[in-house]
Amino acid sequence: MQTAALIVAAGSGTRLGGDLPKQYLHLDGQPVLRRTVLAFLEHPRIDHVQVVIGAGQKDLYDKAIAGLDLPPPVIGGETRQQSVAAGLAALAGSAPAHVLIHDAARALIDHALITRVCDGLVSCSAVLPALPVVDSLSRVEGLQVSGTQDREGLVRAQTPQGFDFLAITAAHRKAAGQAMSDDVAVARAAGMVVQVVQGSEDNFKITVAEDLERAEFLVRQKGLSIMETRTGSGFDVHRFASDRALMLCGLQVPHTHGLAGHSDADVALHAITDAVLGAMAEGDIGDHFPPDDARWKGVSSDIFLRYAMSLLQLRGGRINSIDLTIICEAPKIKPYRQAMRHNVAAILSVPARRISIKATTTEQLGFTGRREGIAAQATATVELPREPDTFEA
Ligand code: MG
Repeated sequence: MQTAALIVAAGSGTRLGGDLPKQYLHLDGQPVLRRTVLAFLEHPRIDHVQVVIGAGQKDLYDKAIAGLDLPPPVIGGETRQQSVAAGLAALAGSAPAHVLIHDAARALIDHALITRVCDGLVSCSAVLPALPVVDSLSRVEGLQVSGTQDREGLVRAQTPQGFDFLAITAAHRKAAGQAMSDDVAVARAAGMVVQVVQGSEDNFKITVAEDLERAEFLVRQKGLSIMETRTGSGFDVHRFASDRALMLCGLQVPHTHGLAGHSDADVALHAITDAVLGAMAEGDIGDHFPPDDARWKGVSSDIFLRYAMSLLQLRGGRINSIDLTIICEAPKIKPYRQAMRHNVAAILSVPARRISIKATTTEQLGFTGRREGIAAQATATVELPREPDTFEA
Protein backbone atom coordinates (compact mmCIF):
# COMPACT_ATOMS: atom_id res chain seq x y z
CA MET A 1 0.00 0.00 0.00
CA GLN A 2 1.37 3.38 -0.98
CA THR A 3 -0.64 6.09 0.74
CA ALA A 4 -3.15 5.95 3.57
CA ALA A 5 -5.42 8.71 4.84
CA LEU A 6 -6.03 8.87 8.57
CA ILE A 7 -9.18 10.88 9.35
CA VAL A 8 -9.32 12.05 12.96
CA ALA A 9 -12.98 12.23 14.01
CA ALA A 10 -12.65 11.47 17.72
CA GLY A 11 -13.72 14.87 19.02
CA SER A 12 -16.86 15.20 21.11
CA GLY A 13 -17.16 18.99 20.66
CA THR A 14 -20.79 20.06 20.37
CA ARG A 15 -20.08 23.79 20.20
CA LEU A 16 -22.36 24.15 17.19
CA GLY A 17 -25.39 23.45 19.32
CA GLY A 18 -27.44 20.31 19.70
CA ASP A 19 -26.14 17.04 21.10
CA LEU A 20 -24.19 15.85 18.07
CA PRO A 21 -20.40 16.15 17.83
CA LYS A 22 -19.69 18.52 14.94
CA GLN A 23 -18.31 15.83 12.59
CA TYR A 24 -21.75 14.19 12.59
CA LEU A 25 -23.81 17.30 11.86
CA HIS A 26 -25.39 17.53 8.44
CA LEU A 27 -23.72 19.65 5.80
CA ASP A 28 -25.88 19.87 2.69
CA GLY A 29 -27.75 16.72 3.69
CA GLN A 30 -24.67 14.63 4.53
CA PRO A 31 -22.79 14.18 7.80
CA VAL A 32 -19.62 16.32 7.82
CA LEU A 33 -17.53 13.17 8.33
CA ARG A 34 -19.01 11.42 5.28
CA ARG A 35 -18.15 14.37 3.05
CA THR A 36 -14.57 14.37 4.37
CA VAL A 37 -14.16 10.61 3.95
CA LEU A 38 -15.55 10.73 0.39
CA ALA A 39 -12.96 13.34 -0.65
CA PHE A 40 -10.17 10.87 0.22
CA LEU A 41 -11.94 7.71 -1.00
CA GLU A 42 -12.48 9.33 -4.39
CA HIS A 43 -8.86 10.49 -4.75
CA PRO A 44 -6.82 8.13 -6.98
CA ARG A 45 -3.59 8.68 -5.00
CA ILE A 46 -5.18 7.48 -1.74
CA ASP A 47 -5.19 3.70 -1.37
CA HIS A 48 -6.65 3.30 2.10
CA VAL A 49 -8.85 5.41 4.39
CA GLN A 50 -8.88 4.82 8.14
CA VAL A 51 -11.14 6.79 10.49
CA VAL A 52 -10.48 7.30 14.22
CA ILE A 53 -13.66 7.90 16.22
CA GLY A 54 -14.47 8.74 19.82
CA ALA A 55 -15.54 6.14 22.34
CA GLY A 56 -19.32 5.72 22.20
CA GLN A 57 -19.61 7.12 18.65
CA LYS A 58 -19.80 3.79 16.79
CA ASP A 59 -23.54 4.07 16.03
CA LEU A 60 -23.16 7.64 14.75
CA TYR A 61 -20.19 6.53 12.65
CA ASP A 62 -21.99 3.53 11.14
CA LYS A 63 -24.89 5.75 10.12
CA ALA A 64 -22.60 8.45 8.73
CA ILE A 65 -20.56 6.15 6.49
CA ALA A 66 -23.36 3.71 5.55
CA GLY A 67 -22.66 2.04 2.21
CA LEU A 68 -19.01 3.15 2.00
CA ASP A 69 -16.22 0.58 1.81
CA LEU A 70 -14.11 1.29 4.92
CA PRO A 71 -12.26 -0.81 7.49
CA PRO A 72 -13.67 -0.83 11.05
CA PRO A 73 -12.98 2.46 12.84
CA VAL A 74 -10.24 2.83 15.43
CA ILE A 75 -11.32 4.14 18.84
CA GLY A 76 -9.31 7.24 19.71
CA GLY A 77 -7.87 8.44 23.00
CA GLU A 78 -8.43 11.38 25.32
CA THR A 79 -6.48 13.84 23.17
CA ARG A 80 -6.10 14.30 19.44
CA GLN A 81 -2.47 13.23 19.72
CA GLN A 82 -3.46 9.93 21.38
CA SER A 83 -6.12 9.40 18.70
CA VAL A 84 -3.59 9.89 15.90
CA ALA A 85 -1.16 7.50 17.63
CA ALA A 86 -3.94 4.88 17.86
CA GLY A 87 -4.74 5.36 14.17
CA LEU A 88 -1.08 5.00 13.16
CA ALA A 89 -0.81 1.81 15.21
CA ALA A 90 -3.85 0.39 13.39
CA LEU A 91 -2.29 1.20 10.01
CA ALA A 92 1.03 -0.46 10.87
CA GLY A 93 -0.17 -3.86 9.66
CA SER A 94 -0.81 -2.60 6.14
CA ALA A 95 2.51 -0.70 6.11
CA PRO A 96 1.76 2.29 3.87
CA ALA A 97 4.72 4.31 2.60
CA HIS A 98 2.93 7.61 3.37
CA VAL A 99 0.10 8.78 5.56
CA LEU A 100 -2.03 11.92 5.29
CA ILE A 101 -3.47 12.90 8.68
CA HIS A 102 -6.62 15.00 8.38
CA ASP A 103 -9.19 16.66 10.67
CA ALA A 104 -12.70 15.33 9.99
CA ALA A 105 -14.12 18.82 10.49
CA ARG A 106 -12.30 20.13 7.39
CA ALA A 107 -15.00 18.78 5.11
CA LEU A 108 -14.35 21.04 2.12
CA ILE A 109 -10.92 19.53 1.46
CA ASP A 110 -10.50 19.53 -2.30
CA HIS A 111 -8.89 17.14 -4.74
CA ALA A 112 -6.08 19.54 -5.72
CA LEU A 113 -4.94 20.03 -2.12
CA ILE A 114 -4.70 16.26 -1.52
CA THR A 115 -2.68 16.05 -4.74
CA ARG A 116 -0.30 18.83 -3.58
CA VAL A 117 0.39 17.04 -0.29
CA CYS A 118 0.96 13.72 -2.11
CA ASP A 119 3.29 15.47 -4.58
CA GLY A 120 5.22 17.03 -1.70
CA LEU A 121 5.81 13.60 -0.18
CA VAL A 122 7.66 12.45 -3.29
CA SER A 123 10.67 14.51 -2.23
CA CYS A 124 10.10 15.23 1.50
CA SER A 125 9.21 13.13 4.52
CA ALA A 126 6.77 15.70 6.00
CA VAL A 127 4.42 18.16 4.29
CA LEU A 128 2.30 20.93 5.78
CA PRO A 129 -0.43 22.67 3.76
CA ALA A 130 -0.58 26.27 4.94
CA LEU A 131 -1.86 29.73 4.06
CA PRO A 132 -0.27 33.14 4.50
CA VAL A 133 -1.33 35.38 7.35
CA VAL A 134 -2.82 38.52 5.78
CA ASP A 135 -4.28 40.30 8.82
CA SER A 136 -1.88 42.05 11.14
CA LEU A 137 -1.48 40.31 14.48
CA SER A 138 -1.88 41.91 17.89
CA ARG A 139 -1.19 40.54 21.32
CA VAL A 140 -3.87 41.27 23.90
CA GLU A 141 -4.23 41.11 27.65
CA GLY A 142 -7.92 40.97 28.47
CA LEU A 143 -9.48 43.46 26.06
CA GLN A 144 -6.39 45.61 25.82
CA VAL A 145 -3.79 45.41 23.08
CA SER A 146 -0.41 44.85 24.67
CA GLY A 147 1.76 44.47 21.62
CA THR A 148 2.08 43.73 17.93
CA GLN A 149 3.27 40.47 16.45
CA ASP A 150 5.24 40.61 13.24
CA ARG A 151 3.45 38.30 10.78
CA GLU A 152 6.62 37.86 8.75
CA GLY A 153 7.44 34.17 8.61
CA LEU A 154 4.07 33.03 9.98
CA VAL A 155 1.56 30.83 8.18
CA ARG A 156 -1.78 29.26 9.09
CA ALA A 157 -1.35 25.49 9.39
CA GLN A 158 -4.00 23.20 7.93
CA THR A 159 -4.46 19.48 7.40
CA PRO A 160 -3.98 16.99 5.75
CA GLN A 161 -0.43 16.94 7.01
CA GLY A 162 1.50 14.31 5.05
CA PHE A 163 4.30 12.13 6.37
CA ASP A 164 6.59 9.23 5.74
CA PHE A 165 4.66 6.55 7.62
CA LEU A 166 7.47 4.92 9.59
CA ALA A 167 9.05 8.27 10.52
CA ILE A 168 5.83 9.81 11.88
CA THR A 169 4.93 6.59 13.71
CA ALA A 170 8.31 6.66 15.45
CA ALA A 171 7.91 10.39 16.17
CA HIS A 172 4.51 9.83 17.77
CA ARG A 173 5.90 7.06 19.95
CA LYS A 174 8.62 9.41 21.11
CA ALA A 175 6.14 12.23 21.79
CA ALA A 176 3.76 10.08 23.85
CA GLY A 177 2.93 11.88 27.08
CA GLN A 178 4.04 15.30 25.83
CA ALA A 179 1.27 17.63 24.61
CA MET A 180 1.99 18.75 21.03
CA SER A 181 -0.18 21.15 19.04
CA ASP A 182 -0.34 19.03 15.87
CA ASP A 183 1.42 16.30 13.94
CA VAL A 184 3.90 18.73 12.40
CA ALA A 185 4.99 19.65 15.93
CA VAL A 186 5.40 15.94 16.70
CA ALA A 187 7.44 15.50 13.51
CA ARG A 188 9.69 18.48 14.20
CA ALA A 189 10.31 17.37 17.79
CA ALA A 190 11.70 14.17 16.28
CA GLY A 191 13.96 16.13 13.95
CA MET A 192 11.91 15.72 10.76
CA VAL A 193 12.13 18.51 8.18
CA VAL A 194 8.67 19.79 7.17
CA GLN A 195 8.01 21.25 3.73
CA VAL A 196 5.15 23.75 3.20
CA VAL A 197 2.70 23.49 0.29
CA GLN A 198 -0.16 25.83 -0.48
CA GLY A 199 -3.31 25.22 1.58
CA SER A 200 -6.83 26.21 0.58
CA GLU A 201 -9.11 28.92 2.03
CA ASP A 202 -12.10 26.59 1.68
CA ASN A 203 -10.37 23.91 3.73
CA PHE A 204 -11.39 25.52 7.02
CA LYS A 205 -12.38 23.69 10.19
CA ILE A 206 -16.12 23.65 10.80
CA THR A 207 -16.24 24.77 14.41
CA VAL A 208 -19.02 27.28 14.93
CA ALA A 209 -22.50 27.64 13.38
CA GLU A 210 -21.27 30.31 10.93
CA ASP A 211 -18.71 27.82 9.59
CA LEU A 212 -21.48 25.35 8.78
CA GLU A 213 -23.44 28.07 6.97
CA ARG A 214 -20.33 29.14 5.04
CA ALA A 215 -19.64 25.52 4.12
CA GLU A 216 -23.24 25.05 2.91
CA PHE A 217 -22.95 28.20 0.84
CA LEU A 218 -19.67 27.06 -0.75
CA VAL A 219 -21.03 23.60 -1.55
CA ARG A 220 -23.92 25.20 -3.43
CA GLN A 221 -21.77 27.83 -5.10
CA LYS A 222 -19.41 25.16 -6.41
CA GLY A 223 -22.36 23.19 -7.78
CA LEU A 224 -21.52 20.31 -5.41
CA SER A 225 -24.85 20.25 -3.62
CA ILE A 226 -26.49 16.83 -3.48
CA MET A 227 -29.86 18.28 -2.49
CA GLU A 228 -32.92 18.11 -4.68
CA THR A 229 -36.09 20.14 -4.24
CA ARG A 230 -39.32 18.26 -3.72
CA THR A 231 -42.90 19.41 -3.24
CA GLY A 232 -45.76 17.88 -1.28
CA SER A 233 -49.39 18.84 -0.92
CA GLY A 234 -51.83 18.22 1.88
CA PHE A 235 -55.59 18.65 2.14
CA ASP A 236 -57.85 18.12 5.14
CA VAL A 237 -61.43 18.80 6.24
CA HIS A 238 -63.06 18.67 9.66
CA ARG A 239 -66.70 19.35 10.45
CA PHE A 240 -67.79 21.83 13.11
CA ALA A 241 -68.81 20.57 16.55
CA SER A 242 -70.39 22.78 19.17
CA ASP A 243 -68.65 21.32 22.21
CA ARG A 244 -64.99 21.83 21.31
CA ALA A 245 -62.36 24.56 21.20
CA LEU A 246 -61.28 25.61 17.70
CA MET A 247 -57.59 24.89 17.18
CA LEU A 248 -55.86 26.24 14.06
CA CYS A 249 -52.06 26.07 13.65
CA GLY A 250 -51.76 25.24 17.33
CA LEU A 251 -53.61 28.41 18.29
CA GLN A 252 -56.96 28.44 20.09
CA VAL A 253 -59.17 30.72 17.98
CA PRO A 254 -62.35 32.13 19.59
CA HIS A 255 -65.40 30.89 17.69
CA THR A 256 -68.91 29.54 18.19
CA HIS A 257 -67.75 26.06 17.19
CA GLY A 258 -64.68 23.89 17.34
CA LEU A 259 -63.90 21.02 15.00
CA ALA A 260 -64.81 17.36 15.46
CA GLY A 261 -62.02 14.80 15.26
CA HIS A 262 -60.03 12.13 17.04
CA SER A 263 -57.17 14.46 17.97
CA ASP A 264 -57.61 18.18 18.67
CA ALA A 265 -58.79 18.34 15.01
CA ASP A 266 -56.33 21.08 14.03
CA VAL A 267 -57.19 20.91 10.34
CA ALA A 268 -54.40 23.35 9.41
CA LEU A 269 -51.61 21.37 11.10
CA HIS A 270 -53.00 18.16 9.57
CA ALA A 271 -52.79 19.64 6.06
CA ILE A 272 -49.21 20.85 6.68
CA THR A 273 -48.20 17.47 8.13
CA ASP A 274 -49.55 15.69 5.04
CA ALA A 275 -47.72 18.16 2.78
CA VAL A 276 -44.37 17.49 4.53
CA LEU A 277 -44.96 13.71 4.45
CA GLY A 278 -45.99 13.99 0.81
CA ALA A 279 -42.78 15.77 -0.17
CA MET A 280 -40.87 12.76 1.20
CA ALA A 281 -43.32 10.19 -0.25
CA GLU A 282 -43.80 8.92 3.31
CA GLY A 283 -47.53 8.22 3.12
CA ASP A 284 -50.05 10.32 5.03
CA ILE A 285 -50.84 11.26 8.60
CA GLY A 286 -53.27 8.31 8.96
CA ASP A 287 -50.48 5.83 8.13
CA HIS A 288 -48.29 7.12 10.93
CA PHE A 289 -51.05 7.98 13.43
CA PRO A 290 -54.04 5.64 12.85
CA PRO A 291 -57.29 7.37 13.94
CA ASP A 292 -58.43 4.23 15.77
CA ASP A 293 -55.36 4.34 18.03
CA ALA A 294 -56.42 5.58 21.48
CA ARG A 295 -52.99 7.18 22.02
CA TRP A 296 -53.86 10.03 19.66
CA LYS A 297 -57.28 10.76 21.20
CA GLY A 298 -57.52 14.46 21.99
CA VAL A 299 -53.78 15.08 21.49
CA SER A 300 -52.39 18.40 20.33
CA SER A 301 -51.71 18.05 16.60
CA ASP A 302 -48.27 19.65 16.75
CA ILE A 303 -46.93 16.19 17.64
CA PHE A 304 -47.89 14.98 14.14
CA LEU A 305 -46.03 17.81 12.48
CA ARG A 306 -43.03 17.43 14.80
CA TYR A 307 -42.91 13.76 13.84
CA ALA A 308 -42.98 14.54 10.10
CA MET A 309 -40.19 17.09 10.67
CA SER A 310 -38.09 14.53 12.54
CA LEU A 311 -38.44 12.13 9.59
CA LEU A 312 -37.27 14.89 7.28
CA GLN A 313 -34.26 15.64 9.50
CA LEU A 314 -33.34 11.95 9.74
CA ARG A 315 -33.15 11.88 5.97
CA GLY A 316 -30.88 14.94 5.96
CA GLY A 317 -33.62 17.19 4.59
CA ARG A 318 -34.87 20.66 5.40
CA ILE A 319 -37.95 22.81 4.88
CA ASN A 320 -37.75 25.46 2.19
CA SER A 321 -41.27 26.81 2.54
CA ILE A 322 -44.79 26.05 3.66
CA ASP A 323 -47.83 27.69 2.07
CA LEU A 324 -51.14 27.08 3.82
CA THR A 325 -54.64 28.17 2.84
CA ILE A 326 -57.43 27.91 5.41
CA ILE A 327 -60.88 27.74 3.76
CA CYS A 328 -63.91 28.86 5.79
CA GLU A 329 -66.60 31.55 6.04
CA ALA A 330 -65.83 32.12 9.73
CA PRO A 331 -63.98 32.81 11.91
CA LYS A 332 -61.82 35.53 10.38
CA ILE A 333 -58.26 34.25 10.16
CA LYS A 334 -56.40 37.48 9.51
CA PRO A 335 -56.13 38.66 13.15
CA TYR A 336 -54.41 35.37 14.06
CA ARG A 337 -52.23 34.96 11.00
CA GLN A 338 -48.94 36.24 12.44
CA ALA A 339 -49.29 34.19 15.61
CA MET A 340 -50.08 31.11 13.48
CA ARG A 341 -47.01 31.67 11.30
CA HIS A 342 -44.81 31.88 14.37
CA ASN A 343 -46.37 28.74 15.85
CA VAL A 344 -45.75 26.72 12.70
CA ALA A 345 -42.23 28.14 12.35
CA ALA A 346 -41.44 27.15 15.94
CA ILE A 347 -42.74 23.59 15.43
CA LEU A 348 -40.60 23.22 12.29
CA SER A 349 -37.58 25.14 13.71
CA VAL A 350 -37.42 27.47 10.70
CA PRO A 351 -37.70 31.26 10.44
CA ALA A 352 -41.26 32.58 10.09
CA ARG A 353 -40.36 34.06 6.70
CA ARG A 354 -40.49 30.49 5.34
CA ILE A 355 -44.11 30.08 6.46
CA SER A 356 -47.04 31.57 4.55
CA ILE A 357 -50.59 31.44 5.88
CA LYS A 358 -53.57 32.61 3.84
CA ALA A 359 -57.33 32.28 4.19
CA THR A 360 -60.24 32.37 1.82
CA THR A 361 -64.00 31.87 1.84
CA THR A 362 -65.82 29.92 -0.85
CA GLU A 363 -68.41 32.67 -1.45
CA GLN A 364 -70.98 30.78 0.63
CA LEU A 365 -70.81 27.85 -1.79
CA GLY A 366 -70.33 24.22 -0.77
CA PHE A 367 -69.85 22.80 2.73
CA THR A 368 -67.48 25.52 3.85
CA GLY A 369 -69.89 28.11 2.45
CA ARG A 370 -72.72 26.55 4.49
CA ARG A 371 -70.46 26.80 7.57
CA GLU A 372 -70.44 23.06 8.13
CA GLY A 373 -66.71 22.82 8.66
CA ILE A 374 -63.23 24.08 7.77
CA ALA A 375 -60.92 22.87 5.00
CA ALA A 376 -57.19 23.49 4.76
CA GLN A 377 -54.72 22.90 1.98
CA ALA A 378 -50.97 23.15 2.22
CA THR A 379 -47.92 22.94 0.01
CA ALA A 380 -44.51 22.04 1.43
CA THR A 381 -41.30 22.58 -0.50
CA VAL A 382 -38.38 20.68 0.98
CA GLU A 383 -34.82 19.79 0.12
CA LEU A 384 -33.66 16.20 0.41
CA PRO A 385 -30.33 14.55 -0.43
CA ARG A 386 -30.64 13.14 -3.92
CA GLU A 387 -30.65 9.35 -4.04
CA PRO A 388 -30.03 7.18 -7.07
CA ASP A 389 -33.27 6.22 -8.80
CA THR A 390 -33.77 2.49 -8.65
CA PHE A 391 -36.68 1.08 -10.54
CA GLU A 392 -38.53 -1.71 -8.82
CA ALA A 393 -40.61 -4.05 -10.94
MG1 MG B 1 -57.49 15.71 9.93
